[in-house]
Amino acid sequence: MGTSLIDTSFNFGYNTPAACLAMAGRLTTWDAVRKFIFAGNAYFTLRSMKTGTRFTYRVRVRQNNDDGKLIHFVSLLRGPNNDEDYAYMGCIVNMTDFHMTDKSRLSQKAMSMTAWMWMYALMLHDQPMPALLEIWHEGRCGRCGKRLTVPESVVTGYGSECTLML
Ligand SMILES: [Zn+2]
Repeated sequence: MGTSLIDTSFNFGYNTPAACLAMAGRLTTWDAVRKFIFAGNAYFTLRSMKTGTRFTYRVRVRQNNDDGKLIHFVSLLRGPNNDEDYAYMGCIVNMTDFHMTDKSRLSQKAMSMTAWMWMYALMLHDQPMPALLEIWHEGRCGRCGKRLTVPESVVTGYGSECTLML
């Protein structure tokens, strides 16, 4: 895969409405990305600066982790309602490898899946962040998913109450 992914025209994504992007904030380091996507209820977008194509994902922590495994579920936004129209992609166990499962609703070959797995592997292995990849939070708190309303929260990606809990 490598960097060839961002040379390819994405054509599968659902474009986030511009109005939503107004409150979005860019995550510029892997540390910031890692913290955000594992915070509990994270909505974020990958954007190719080369093609402008973007995919929006949601990563939610499983509420019941009684079996000792920390599970995060990864989904793709693929409809106009960015509260509801998510397709399950797979899960992450204990913040390490991402796995597709029987319930995954996307093919491994879908560009949205390839883009996610590519970004995630780079993050996991602390590879250099690609210059042509932008990662944005969607103006919602990464921990609880509520919309952020004050500028300081938009900068960090967390509401003031959740900031104290992280
Ligand atoms: Zn919150």
